[in-house]
Amino acid sequence: EAITVQELANRMAEKGADLVKALFNMGMMVTVNQTIDQDTAELLVEEFGHRIQRVSDSDIDIDTSTDVDPEEALQARPPVVTIMGHVDHGKTSLLDALRGTDVVRGEAGGITQHMGAYQIRTKGGDHVTFLDTPGHEAFTEMRARGANVTDIVVLVVAADDGIMPQTIEAINHTKAADVPMIVAINKCDKEEANPKRIRERLLEHEVIVEEMSGDVQDVEVSAKTGKGLDELIEKILLQAEFLELKANPDRPAEATVVEAKLDKGKGPLATILVNRGTLKRGDVFVVGTESGRVRAMHDDKGKQVKEAGPSMPVEVLGLGGVPMAGDQLLVVENEQRAREVAEYRQEKATEKRTAMAPASLDTMFSALADKQNVIEFPLLVKADVQGSVEAINNALHNLSNDDIKVRILHSGVGAITESDVTLASASGAPIIGFNVRPNAKAREQIEQSKTRMMYYDIIYQLTEEIAKEMAGELGPER
Ligand code: GDP
Repeated sequence: EAITVQELANRMAEKGADLVKALFNMGMMVTVNQTIDQDTAELLVEEFGHRIQRVSDSDIDIDTSTDVDPEEALQARPPVVTIMGHVDHGKTSLLDALRGTDVVRGEAGGITQHMGAYQIRTKGGDHVTFLDTPGHEAFTEMRARGANVTDIVVLVVAADDGIMPQTIEAINHTKAADVPMIVAINKCDKEEANPKRIRERLLEHEVIVEEMSGDVQDVEVSAKTGKGLDELIEKILLQAEFLELKANPDRPAEATVVEAKLDKGKGPLATILVNRGTLKRGDVFVVGTESGRVRAMHDDKGKQVKEAGPSMPVEVLGLGGVPMAGDQLLVVENEQRAREVAEYRQEKATEKRTAMAPASLDTMFSALADKQNVIEFPLLVKADVQGSVEAINNALHNLSNDDIKVRILHSGVGAITESDVTLASASGAPIIGFNVRPNAKAREQIEQSKTRMMYYDIIYQLTEEIAKEMAGELGPER
């Protein structure tokens, strides 16, 4: 595993010449175009360690990651929930049914507009925000873009059907993101419904619900009759309380774009979720590589609002262009500053596309950041038959030791799909293909995301190579 000095410099947002100088001081004469090995790269990363903590070039760009709110400024904020599950298990129906439980909407007469997220107020006066684009693909795409907006995942499983391929994908994507899950066993109004069997089957995927003496909450619901919806909301609120979700509402807003589009009449529109602070009409902001000023805001009922606090979804008017889902919106002092940052980011985005490092460096960085703890070695496994999947998973688990652990984010039978690639790139994990190849769309995405692919047809070769990589990950001192 080698990398050129320039590539490493780009990855660290440092000047190539500075790295060459540092290498010279270590007694190595190299140019920026020469490659260095993993050990030397690690040394350099450590050498520059205090500086790679910096997320962006704070001279020009805005970096609020070090700007931590004081404890006393924090206030509870509503949870943000994503619904996942297999196709036809009732995600859309459940989202609609939950929307119907909103006490405010009940009073106002129920105008609904789809804008990517909505918020309900419960009978008890609590708020819950739901992302309106169900499924794990959207969830992981956002995560791949660095946006972790979902606090809680509701996994929908139809009680008359069972655990299906996308159920398993949803479970694995949720686990990879370390987001807590609540299982909603849907269609319980049906005669064939067998919730008990669902709970048992979930065990096979290491989802142990409370009734099976695990710690995953579960609830029997029917999106059709409304059975269990109040209980589901209660469980979401309980989970939220446990997570102690808090944000400082009294500061300039930081938000995440959950959906954006170009409207013929209104121009670019973005639905955003406020992470912290309060977004106000007239605020100047940068969002991704665009700048703008809040001309107007609407809530999910189409009502004009003057401001939006944490976890509140609003549609914003007044953007210079259409941002991407997952982009961060940051309020800045004035328009000049907003334009400066947006332009800088546009330049950077072009640079970055030509200089992305392979995924294994990501794992190296996270490993360095976390040296005291057990290092995780994330992987995705796809194979041609179930027997191979199991054999490979077992063999890989046996490679784990006290210092480093194989973490199989997802495994399954069949070609490598786009969903696999999204998960791999969001987690900086390579994909192992055993007697399988990616489909056409996935191949394109592999190119773009520079996801690492490892193909095998003999299991011991696979384990040998992974074992070697894992040893390399630990570094020479272990
Ligand atoms: P999605 O693909 O997961 O979004 O599933 P949908 O919400 O589109 O639902 C798929 C089908 O199941 C539709 O025909 C729904 O009417 C039906 N359905 C959803 N929830 C329930 C339920 O609780 N009970 C019954 N009987 N049917 C349901």
